[in-house]
Amino acid sequence: MKHPIVIAIDGTSASGKSTNAKLVAKALGFVHVDTGAMYRTLAWHCLQQQVNTEDPKAVAAVCRRWKTSLANVDGLVHLLVDGKDPGLELRTSEVSAATSHIAVVPKVRDWMKQKQRECIQFGSLVMEGRDIGTNVFPETDYKFYLDAHIEERTRRRAAEGVNENLAARDQRDSQRAAAPLMIALGAKVINNSTMTSAETSGLILAEVCRRRDASERAGQRGVVR
Ligand code: C5P
Repeated sequence: MKHPIVIAIDGTSASGKSTNAKLVAKALGFVHVDTGAMYRTLAWHCLQQQVNTEDPKAVAAVCRRWKTSLANVDGLVHLLVDGKDPGLELRTSEVSAATSHIAVVPKVRDWMKQKQRECIQFGSLVMEGRDIGTNVFPETDYKFYLDAHIEERTRRRAAEGVNENLAARDQRDSQRAAAPLMIALGAKVINNSTMTSAETSGLILAEVCRRRDASERAGQRGVVR
């Protein structure tokens, strides 16, 4: 593919976005961007700085002044804070809960959108999140929306040793005013409750090829930007 493209994978919590984004990125040699990790990084940093994550003004102020950089480490984009990657500290239930509070703040979403668009500097991307196809890269032709039954998603998280109320998080993500979780126009919806990740990623790859061929045939470039 001559021009950088973005494959947008949105969906509910624990719907397999990360696993499949990783598999698709690996198969195509694209760079993987986990935007949830970027939001988690801000929540983690606020907790570290003892900033109230339920105070939108305080969180927006942190967002204005924190020192960050983007790094492509072996095909995965990391958002570093003061040069540090918080790693597994992003995955605690405390950080998960704080993240869905900071994610409703419009100034935070603007900041994140700009940083996420900057990731195109690394080349073609598989970017996963909640608003990639609707808000961050709405111009891409390659949009996917993953979902699975709540029982299956809860089982997947429990298998990772995390017990959290996914339904409550999905509800907050779907009902916020700024860039809520929703199915983007033209997205292929995949309910993978009874599918393996090989099947889900295979379906995504086949659809990407189908759309790319169709757009090449139509003489369009399928270019992002
Ligand atoms: O994907 P992950 O579960 O790590 O995302 C954590 C939280 O970050 C989500 O529940 C959501 O509140 C927020 N998020 C978002 N927009 C994105 C990615 C994540 O609001 N593009």
